[in-house]
Amino acid sequence: MIEVKSLRKEFKTKFGNLVAVDDVNFAIKKGEIFGLVGESGSGKSTIGSMIVGAYGATSGSITFHGDTDISKDSKFRPHALKQKIQLVFQDPGGSLNPRKTIRQILSVPLELYSDKKLSRAETDALIAEALKQVGLPLSYMDKYPKAIGGGEKQLVCVARALVANPDFIVLDEPTSALDVSIQAKITNKLIDLQQKNNLSYLFITHNLCLVRNMCTRLAVMYLGNICEYADTAEFFDNPRHPYTQMLLASIPVLSDEEESCKPQRIKSVGEIPSPLNKPTGCSFHPRCPYKKDICSREVPPMREVREGHFVCCHCWDSLDRG
Ligand code: SF4
Repeated sequence: MIEVKSLRKEFKTKFGNLVAVDDVNFAIKKGEIFGLVGESGSGKSTIGSMIVGAYGATSGSITFHGDTDISKDSKFRPHALKQKIQLVFQDPGGSLNPRKTIRQILSVPLELYSDKKLSRAETDALIAEALKQVGLPLSYMDKYPKAIGGGEKQLVCVARALVANPDFIVLDEPTSALDVSIQAKITNKLIDLQQKNNLSYLFITHNLCLVRNMCTRLAVMYLGNICEYADTAEFFDNPRHPYTQMLLASIPVLSDEEESCKPQRIKSVGEIPSPLNKPTGCSFHPRCPYKKDICSREVPPMREVREGHFVCCHCWDSLDRG
């Protein structure tokens, strides 16, 4: 469905070139939920933005359905292609026009992407179907966003994506602005819609618990690079990269039994560095307790350590797993 090869994105800033994404490679299969995990500044949202066409790539490629190049920004994309790749933003409040009713908001993709002029009755029928799919009452059509809750606003955003009849949706932290009690409802609804409509998702998050429940495969990003990439079960059973182990060890748990299943607690040093001042060699080396001399000199290659499990670390096979 989506194939990303040697992808790089640089932004010019007054402080110099900021490399937000550097030599990233992954592929998302049809019908898959692929997770992209990382801290703020890791480059995960920049990749999502490039897939929907908000930015063009500096170099490398993104292809859709095998042969359509979507590496350039969306002004180079035909409407039919824009329609097939939709985005759900992190902040549902900020992404809905407060002066428009939900009917008006959901009619925009229909006006943009329909190949014929739809009558009012046809538009309403498609909007009603989208609201039904996300579990909102039809009476919401005439409400304004301020009259509904945060979780319902996010469901309207999902309905806005669905009404365009997409193949692929980028979900950029779709639950992080919501109360914990509502997060589960939204993620369950997203899984349900993905299965019913045979959609593919790129699910961008910093929350490893969510990807465990939602995603078939996932990749962890650090300072613009992917450091580990595997099937979800393999990833949680056998994490190999020190940064991944650090993230997993920091997940809060409720019992000693759950604690004993986590990788040994890795003590990392410091904060994620600025992408403007990326460390040499392995970009995690200033924080890594396992670093060796080679780590600050040479960028580690990505290696397949088991079938479908890739790790970018010089020392992946010699670390104490605890
Ligand atoms: Fe740590 Fe070296 Fe592996 Fe980087 S390459 S994660 S510094 S051991």
